[in-house]
Amino acid sequence: MIEKFEGDVALKDGSLVHVRRASADDLAALTEFLRGVSPSTLLSRFQGKVRRDEEHVEDVVPSSRRFTMVAERERRIVAEADYVPTESNGADAGVLVADDFQRKGLGTILLAQLSQAAADSGITRFTLTTSATAHPKLSFVEEMGYPVHVGAAPGFVRVTFPTSITPTGLRAFEKWEAVAAAAAVSRFLNAKSVAVIGASRDRHSIGGALFANIMEGGFKGPVYPVNKEASYVQSVTAYRSVLDCPGRVDLAFVVVPARFVPETVRECAQKGVPAVVVIASGFAEVGGEGHQLQEELVRICTESGIRLIGPNCMGILNTDPSVSLNGQFAPVKPMVGRMGFVSQSGALGYAIIDQANKLGLGMSSFVSVGNKADISGNDLIQYWEEDRNTDLILMHIESFGNPRKFGRLATRIARKKPIVVVKSGRSASGFRATQSHTGALVAASDVTVDALFRQSGVVRTETLEEMFEVAAFLATQPVPKGPKVAIVTNAGGPGILAADACEGLGLSVPELTDETKRELQSFLLPIAGTKNPVDMTSVASAADYARVISTVSQDPNVDALIVIFIPPIAVRTEDVSAAILQAAGRLGGKIPVIATFMAAKGVTGELSGEKVRIPAYPFPESAARVLSRAVQYGKWLSEPRGRAVRFVDLRKLEAASIVSGALVAGRGWLTQTETGALLSCYGIPTARSSYAKTPDDAEAAAEALGGKIVLKGVAPSLVHKSDVGGVTLGLGPEQVAQAARGMAARLSDQGIGDVSFLVQELVPDAVEMFVGVTNDVNFGPLLACGAGGALVELLRDVSVKLTPLTDKDAHQLVRSLKTYPLLEGYRGGAVRDVGALEEIILRLSELVEDLPEVDELDLNPVMVLTKGKGAVVVDARVHVTEGAPELPLGAKK
Ligand code: ADP
Ligand code: MG
Repeated sequence: MIEKFEGDVALKDGSLVHVRRASADDLAALTEFLRGVSPSTLLSRFQGKVRRDEEHVEDVVPSSRRFTMVAERERRIVAEADYVPTESNGADAGVLVADDFQRKGLGTILLAQLSQAAADSGITRFTLTTSATAHPKLSFVEEMGYPVHVGAAPGFVRVTFPTSITPTGLRAFEKWEAVAAAAAVSRFLNAKSVAVIGASRDRHSIGGALFANIMEGGFKGPVYPVNKEASYVQSVTAYRSVLDCPGRVDLAFVVVPARFVPETVRECAQKGVPAVVVIASGFAEVGGEGHQLQEELVRICTESGIRLIGPNCMGILNTDPSVSLNGQFAPVKPMVGRMGFVSQSGALGYAIIDQANKLGLGMSSFVSVGNKADISGNDLIQYWEEDRNTDLILMHIESFGNPRKFGRLATRIARKKPIVVVKSGRSASGFRATQSHTGALVAASDVTVDALFRQSGVVRTETLEEMFEVAAFLATQPVPKGPKVAIVTNAGGPGILAADACEGLGLSVPELTDETKRELQSFLLPIAGTKNPVDMTSVASAADYARVISTVSQDPNVDALIVIFIPPIAVRTEDVSAAILQAAGRLGGKIPVIATFMAAKGVTGELSGEKVRIPAYPFPESAARVLSRAVQYGKWLSEPRGRAVRFVDLRKLEAASIVSGALVAGRGWLTQTETGALLSCYGIPTARSSYAKTPDDAEAAAEALGGKIVLKGVAPSLVHKSDVGGVTLGLGPEQVAQAARGMAARLSDQGIGDVSFLVQELVPDAVEMFVGVTNDVNFGPLLACGAGGALVELLRDVSVKLTPLTDKDAHQLVRSLKTYPLLEGYRGGAVRDVGALEEIILRLSELVEDLPEVDELDLNPVMVLTKGKGAVVVDARVHVTEGAPELPLGAKK
C-alpha cells in the first residue's frame, strides 16, 4: 500500500522517479544531493546566496516546522521541495532540481504535490523567492496556470500563488501527464535499436519466433540477439549478455523464463536500456511467489528508471514504415493501418492481429500489456491521442488499474478519436476467470463499468467480434448525426428484419418525405415499396441501387443508410457492389452507408473501391447493432459537456468533523442526528424533525413542531422501519405519546428493544424518489437515482452515474428513468420540482467527492413537491469507513 505522499511519477522524457516525504534520516543523502548541484542552479534557491553545503542542507532538511519531499532515482536524491509555514496560512516554499534532471517537469510535479500536502494542512499560499537572474528556473509556476502574484526586491524576485490547484492548473497538469505518458510509450514503439534476450535458433520457441518476426518484419535499426549459449542465432551473431551488445540498445525484449528475469533486467539497467518488454509468465497472475517476483522486477525498473511492458504479454508492434517493428511472437505479419490496439490477454493477440488483417483494417500499433506492472492502457491511449498514424483506438481489457483516471482521459480523447472497448469479465464465471487470469483483485460490478463507459464516450461492445464490426464502421464511415435510418433492399423479409432490429435498439426508421417518395416512384416499378424500408424487389438492377442511394440520402429524415442485397439469379453481385460504392462515394461522407450482403458466398468485411470503403455485414441485425453503437457515440459527441457545479453555501469542515466523530467511535452507520446534520452541511433539505428518547418527550417535540406529525421508531437494528410498524403517518401532536408507546410495544414484540423516536413533520402530496451512493474501492462513488419509497425494489427503475456529476449529468440521470413522466405531471398529476431534485443530486455528488469515507448513503424517499416548492428528504442512512489515502497528483497508479 502506498503511503500518503509516496508514489512513482513519470517524467516528460518517459522515465520514472520515486517521490516520497523526506525524514531527518535523509540528512546525508540531502547533503550529497546539494553538493552535486551547480552554483547557477543554487542561485534559484536560498535567496540567491551560494554558501557552504552544510548551511544549505539546514534549509531543506525536514524538521518540526519544515515539510520536505524528495524525488529519487537509483536511491540518489535528484530533487527536493519543501515549505515552512509563515504567518496567516502562508508558507515559504522552495524547489531544487539536480542539473541533469531539469526540464523534465520534475519541479512542476514536486511543487504540485507539495501544494497538495500544504493545502491539506490548511496552508493557502506559497511564496517562492529566487535571485532575479535565476527567475527562468521558476517559470514553470506560471506555466502551471497558478494565478501568481509577483514582487521585486533589489536582486530578488518573489512569486506568491495559492496552494489549491485551479482548473487551469489541473488542465496544465493533465497536459504534462499526457506528455510523460506518450514519451514513455514512445520509448517502446519508436525504439531505434532492439535486443532480444533469449533469442533462440528454434523458430517454434517464443524467443525464436519473436526474433524471426522482428528480422522478417524489416525493423529499421540494428537487432541484437542475446543468447547465453549460442554464438549465432538464425544466421546472426549473438551476444552472451545484453552488456556485450556493441551499440546502444533502446529496447530489450526479455524472453527468458520468469526466474531469470530479475538478473536479466538488472543487466539491462547496467547497459542503460531505457525500456524492456517482459514476455515471460509466472508473475502476479499466478499468485504467491509470482507476486514477489513481479515486485522485484518493478523495483529494479523503478530504481533504474526503466519503463516496463508486461510481464506475461505477447509483445508489441508498430507498422509505421519508418519503424516496422513486429515485436511479438505470433506467426502473423501485421498489415499497416490506422487502429491502435491494446490487449491485456497475451493469448488473444494472435487472433486480434489476424482478424484485423482479414478485415483489411490493419493497425498502426499493437501493444499486449499483460500484467500491466508499469505501462497500462491509460498510458497507451494518451500516446494514441497525439499519434499521427492512429485514428481509432481499440481496447480489450480485463481489469482496470485506475478506472477514474481512465474515465477522465477517455472523456478527453474520445472527442478526437473513437475508443472502442470490449471488457471481458461480464458474467459471473467471466469474473472468476478475470481474477485468476491477470491477478486483478477487484473487478467492478458491471453497472459501474457501464456507467463509466457511457459517461466518457467510450463505445462498449459485448464481444471481440462485435468490436471488429464496430471498428470496420468507424474506420470507414462518418459518425451518424442522429438515429434516423433508411433501409434500401431488394427483398422484403430482410428489410423488415433490419427495421425491427433498428427499432429494438433505439434507432428509428421514419417514413421518407413525399418529395423523396415521388422521386423514387418516378423510376422504380409500381410494386416497389417507397416508404421505408425502400423495397426495390428482386428485379432491382445495379443502376437502381445507385439511384435509390443518391435519392434517399438527400432526404432530411435520414441520418444513415443500410443497403441490403440478396443476390437474385439475374444480377451480378460485383455490379451491385460497384454501383453501391460509386453512389456512396458521391455522398462525400455526408451520411454513413453500410451494407448487408446475404449471399451463400456473401461478402463479409467490406466493399472496397479505390477511395471508398463500406463495411458489410452478413446479417441485417449486426448492421443495425453497429449503427446503434455509432449513433450513441454521435449523441455523446454532440451533447453539451455540462458544467461542474460547485455550491458556495456548504459547511465542509463541520461535515468532515461529523464523519471523523463517527470514525473515532468506530460506528459504521451514522446516528439520526449525525445524518441530519451531515445533510444540512451540504444544504440538502430534510423534513423538520426532532429526536426524542421517551414517548412523553416525543409528544413534547410534536407540540413544538405543530401540524401533522410522522412518528418513526429509531433503534440500531431497525433498518426498514415501515416493514415492522415503525412508521406512523399523520398524527396530531396530542396522539403522539400514545402512538409512541404502541410502537415501542410492537417493536419489542419483534425483538427490537431500546427504541427511541424521530418526530417529523408530515410532507403531504409528493412524488417519492430515491437517491443513493455506493463507493466502489476502484471506481469511486457511484450515484444512483430512481423511483423511491417502498417500491424501490419492486420497480427497479434506477439510473446511475459516477461522480463528480455535472449539471448535464443530473439532468440526464433523472430523465432517463422509466418513471420520469410521474415527475412531469403524468395523467393530470401535478408537475414536480425536478430542478430541486437535480440540486439534491448535485449537492450529494459534492458531498461524496469531498468525503470518500462515506461509502454508502441512501436518501429514500426524497419527497419531490409541486414545481416551485422544492424537494425534501424524509429518510436517510449514511455509512462511513476509513478510506485509503488519496494518491498524490501524478502518481502512476
Ligand atoms: P423506512 O424506509 O425505514 O420504512 P421511511 O422513513 O422511509 O421508513 O418511511 C416509509 C414511508 O413512509 C415513506 O416511503 C413515505 O411514504 C412515508 N413517509 C415517511 N416519512 C414521511 C413524512 N415525513 N411525510 C410523509 N410521508 C412520509
Ligand atoms: Mg425509507
